[in-house]
Amino acid sequence: MTPNRDVAASAPGADRQHLVACEYCDAVYQRADLATGEQALCRRCGGSLYRESRRAYQQLLPLVATALILFLLSNVFPIVEMELKGIRAKTTLWGAVQALYADHMVLVALLVFATTILFPLAEMMMMLYLLVQMGRRRVPTGFARIVRGIQLTRPWGMIEVYLLGVVVTLVKLSSVADILAGPALWSFSALVVVLATMLSFDPRDLWQYLAKGPPR
Ligand SMILES: [Zn+2]
Repeated sequence: MTPNRDVAASAPGADRQHLVACEYCDAVYQRADLATGEQALCRRCGGSLYRESRRAYQQLLPLVATALILFLLSNVFPIVEMELKGIRAKTTLWGAVQALYADHMVLVALLVFATTILFPLAEMMMMLYLLVQMGRRRVPTGFARIVRGIQLTRPWGMIEVYLLGVVVTLVKLSSVADILAGPALWSFSALVVVLATMLSFDPRDLWQYLAKGPPR
């Protein structure tokens, strides 16, 4: 997002670090402080510019930590019972991905792996790294690249895709496996809710909470 030079130049004394451009019509505004729960709208097209996110930001680290624990639990405990090499056995999500792969359902195996393991984990690790560093009032190395990375993985980590992955897994597996109503399934369900809350935070807002302003 490059600030519109004309507007920046025509607003004398404007703090260029705090310019915000409308995603929908490219109008540029000076960022103003919002009260809790408020949302800034574009005066020209009515599009959403940004939300007040201080409380959401403060809740982010506990959310990421909770998500990581739930992720761990849902991957450590067996989630399905299926036929593996002729033996009926309970297996984890990762075991199920391997079984799908071995069963020549390569695409399904990849989709399930990407949406339920790879992208959520990548997003959680990137968030954790940034938040811990920012909590220590440091500017994380590679900050800009990681924020962009989070935005890039977002379409894949999106809750719809994630749920699709889960549904495909359950449907595909239910033909060859029984879903186990155990700790893995419960933590999995809770993880979906926590991730949805986490994903409602716009990673670009992280710029507002850097100890120093964005690098010039
Ligand atoms: Zn607009």
